[in-house]
Amino acid sequence: MKTIGLLGGMSWESTLGYYRAINEGVNNKVGGLHSAKIAMYSVDFEPIEQLQHAGDWESTAKILSEAAKSIQAAGADFLLICTNTMHKVAPEIEAAIQIPLLHIADATADILVNEGIKSVGLLGTAFTMEQEFYKGRLINNYGLEVLVPSKQDREIVHKVIYQELCLGKIKPGSKIEYLRIIDALAAQGAEAVILGCTEIGMLVKQSDTNVRLLDTTAIHAEKAVEYAT
Ligand code: GLU
Repeated sequence: MKTIGLLGGMSWESTLGYYRAINEGVNNKVGGLHSAKIAMYSVDFEPIEQLQHAGDWESTAKILSEAAKSIQAAGADFLLICTNTMHKVAPEIEAAIQIPLLHIADATADILVNEGIKSVGLLGTAFTMEQEFYKGRLINNYGLEVLVPSKQDREIVHKVIYQELCLGKIKPGSKIEYLRIIDALAAQGAEAVILGCTEIGMLVKQSDTNVRLLDTTAIHAEKAVEYAT
């Protein structure tokens, strides 16, 4: 079994989800008392979040590249960056290490392509919904049409992530808002909606809606299990 490298803490609430899903996934596959071999570096999120909102991605890339090198030195065979947003600096992190990076957007796009989905909605931080590093990968590498919420709704989605979900706060009012936004994307033609932020699965579940949801935390964790075993 390979050792899984996790670059976590963004936020730690969602890294918990990765840790559980990966260990459960490995145990389901190999049974007994088997659990995943994991080398994890969990960052302090506050400075990262401040740099994100200041637009200083270069500094985030430096911090995360150093962390990734530590994970490699600890014996990881491959790396997961446990956040969609910080895949913005995935090229810099990838260049700093020799082990492969399992990209969260690729893991998600593989499922969409397999299911024959052409048009997909995307929820995430404003960075993920508005910038090219994520949407562009889905459009250019997989030929997907990517729909995002209106500006006003993107602000709601973004605010709930940083002010609630990253702090472990699950509010029924926010869930209603998210479900409304998911319905609006479906009404615009989205055949499925990507929960493109690793905390959203804490708020909205597939059982809450008839719209097909792709939870990037679950998908990324499953890909890691596949790759490790
Ligand atoms: N975990 C979130 C994501 O998947 C947001 C936190 C961050 O900015 O990294 O994008």
